[in-house]
Amino acid sequence: MVRQLVFDEPRPARPPRHLADLDAAGRASAIAELGLPAYRAKQLAQQYYGRLIADPRQMTDLPAAVRERVAEAMFPTLLTAAADVACDAGQTRKTLWRATDGTTVESVLMRYPQRNTVCISSQAGCGMACPFCATGQGGLRRNLSTAEILEQVRAGAAALRDDFGSGQRLSNVVFMGMGEPLANYARVLAAVQRIIAPPPHGFGISARSVTVSTVGLVPAIRTLADERLGVTLALSLHAPDDELRDTLVPVNTRWKVGEALAAARYYAETTGRRVSVEYALIRGVNDQAWRADLLGKRLHRALGPLVHVNLIPLNPTPGSAWDASPKPVEREFVRRVRSQGVSCTVRDTRGREISAACGQLAAAGGPAT
Ligand code: SAH
Repeated sequence: MVRQLVFDEPRPARPPRHLADLDAAGRASAIAELGLPAYRAKQLAQQYYGRLIADPRQMTDLPAAVRERVAEAMFPTLLTAAADVACDAGQTRKTLWRATDGTTVESVLMRYPQRNTVCISSQAGCGMACPFCATGQGGLRRNLSTAEILEQVRAGAAALRDDFGSGQRLSNVVFMGMGEPLANYARVLAAVQRIIAPPPHGFGISARSVTVSTVGLVPAIRTLADERLGVTLALSLHAPDDELRDTLVPVNTRWKVGEALAAARYYAETTGRRVSVEYALIRGVNDQAWRADLLGKRLHRALGPLVHVNLIPLNPTPGSAWDASPKPVEREFVRRVRSQGVSCTVRDTRGREISAACGQLAAAGGPAT
């Protein structure tokens, strides 16, 4: 401890300001503060969002004399890759990022034949305390800034373009890494806006290919619906009844299944987008036939055709006795949900062996205290 007090750099409480934290007006005033002509603001944004460059020293259309100044004022290095692991024959890659204050978060890049997805974190840790989720066990460390969220996207897009040989494009972004995105609402909203805006204002990823996943923070779901961004909402339900959901998703003690489904319906009606319902199948806990029937009935009643159920075979986490349901139980669960007229599939689980699958992200480290 003493060693750290003596040798460590002071750690900023907040990540430094970055271009990606700023909207167009903010970029304009930051450029004015630097004494640069107004058109530079658009140029920098084009480099960042359009060309995925975050280091002004590589921006050849910027006069060499100002690159250093711009780097310092607008492009601090927010995230440094501390570790990279791959699996699924190189098609899945997890990166452990270290932020300026030593906090660590993870993101996961997944290549598929028809799409490339980055799964990003919105918070370091998570305060929602779902007992089956590794991230939930460590509690919330802090919210990520908008730029810290966007840097994960930029890095994923740049890796797809540069590292896989064939100039791949990032097509999908899912907020299914660490954290509860709607508990960091303003920063996540700004990040989503810049993910979907076309360059120079954003990465230009189609809104329907962006998924915000939530435990069910009801007022925030409604607010997000009213933004009419057209992004996909995923609701982590995991149980169709309050008694069980109170224990699996503790926020259910505040907003019940019925309220979460009503908010999901509001989202679907307001945006015209089908809502995804996430359901981690846990052996002997939430995989009973009667729960499948109840799930199908409640979803059909609340959302009709405007819902799709994603069953996630539980990814075991350290220290938990829980396991995934056996395949025959899983198949029967799917059949029963479908027989209520609700669309339902089982999610393919990428990254299990590198602890990069749903609910397994639990970055070690962070600020020593
Ligand atoms: N806080 C957001 C994002 C969490 S991660 C949310 O709760 O939706 C995305 C999904 O993975 C959520 O549905 C989450 O419940 C699920 N998940 C968490 N731990 C899991 C595990 N061990 N196995 C399978 N899915 C898990």
